[in-house]
Amino acid sequence: MREVISIHVGQAGIQVGNSCWALYCLEHGIQPDGMMPSVANEGANHELSAPSLVLPDPESTSRELCTTLNSFDFELKSFQFQVNFNSQFLVQVVDLLPYRSAGRDIVEVCLDRLRKLADNCSRLQGFFMFNAVGGGTGSGLGSLLLERLSVEYGKKPKLGFTIYPSPQVSIAVVEPYNSVLSTHSLLEHNDVAVLLDNEAIYDICRRSFDIERPTYTNLNRLISQIISSLTTSLRFDGAINVNITEFQTNLVLYPRIHFMLSSHAPVISVEKAYHEKLSVPQIISAIFEPASMMAKCDPRHGKYMACCLMYHGDVVPKEVNAAVRSIKTQQRCPTGFKCGINYQPPTVVPGGDLAEVKRAVCMISNNIHKDLPALEKDYEEVGAKVPKDDEPPED
Ligand code: GDP
Repeated sequence: MREVISIHVGQAGIQVGNSCWALYCLEHGIQPDGMMPSVANEGANHELSAPSLVLPDPESTSRELCTTLNSFDFELKSFQFQVNFNSQFLVQVVDLLPYRSAGRDIVEVCLDRLRKLADNCSRLQGFFMFNAVGGGTGSGLGSLLLERLSVEYGKKPKLGFTIYPSPQVSIAVVEPYNSVLSTHSLLEHNDVAVLLDNEAIYDICRRSFDIERPTYTNLNRLISQIISSLTTSLRFDGAINVNITEFQTNLVLYPRIHFMLSSHAPVISVEKAYHEKLSVPQIISAIFEPASMMAKCDPRHGKYMACCLMYHGDVVPKEVNAAVRSIKTQQRCPTGFKCGINYQPPTVVPGGDLAEVKRAVCMISNNIHKDLPALEKDYEEVGAKVPKDDEPPED
């Protein structure tokens, strides 16, 4: 068995976790009574393996849920799933933690629980960190934990699903400061950071699902599709598997340049799904559209250093190869594409916004962006000049 420990820090980390675990339950066919049909017949009690550490924020809405219940009840409850998460791995944070001003004590407690979790794993592959860098707990405790994880588990890859704030769905004025400070720690201590920009995801939901004001639930369901694709090969046998160490080796060419763009296709509502033909070439070209990116960034202004595509459902390697060849000629990507194929059909939450489709693809890409005019404008605004390539920037 190969395990990945998920660490959910702060409100956003937990709520994204809720959506992910709900999706995992659906994908694995876990029944409302917490049983899987195959084991239910034998009368065995199946518990979804859930090595997770949960770190709620005391001021957030997740607090009440976490103190009395295990934290993932929020969304799982609406499907009446009973998945047993071990409550000893829930750490209640007792102080609000602005970036690094507190949390030294709590980090020891967290590490102690993490060690216990890691000891229970047979082949620990690495860590997934879920947090929002705009939040107090997400940025402060998240950064401290990452630093300590690098010391204790230096060789295990750490993948972060990092939510960046947006003016549209932001809740505090300090979010930009928290994000900048926290990014510093991500730079040093995270191996791969998948950037989830709330503003971009908000726009995708608005456009694709015709929702005027998307909620966090809408955003999180879309995010969970990306995370589910990344973990599919850990959870299901596939035609071509991509495991979590391979993300790092394929995508990160320079250790500090590890901030990834992500996109998912098709993102389509139930109504529109009837009119669209969603062939392999169509979904692959949709995934490269700037509007599909889960961060506000136009990849056409930069260059792709590496791309990883994970297909789900009814696709055959031959079709994928042909589509990749044609897209490579159009996009500026000097390297090959890493592809994963899993025949497990894409799963969606019943009654959610996403339509059920036969095939889907998720892309994680490393794109470097050097839009000089935009950069010059940014520097001008703060009264500085753009540094030449070989000189350090001004303070
Ligand atoms: P913390 O608990 O102190 O870490 O604070 P939060 O996790 O609430 O972080 C605040 C940031 O996270 C803001 O930028 C919010 O817009 C964002 N955020 C909060 N909850 C969610 C959520 O459920 N989903 C998403 N995508 N973003 C969230």
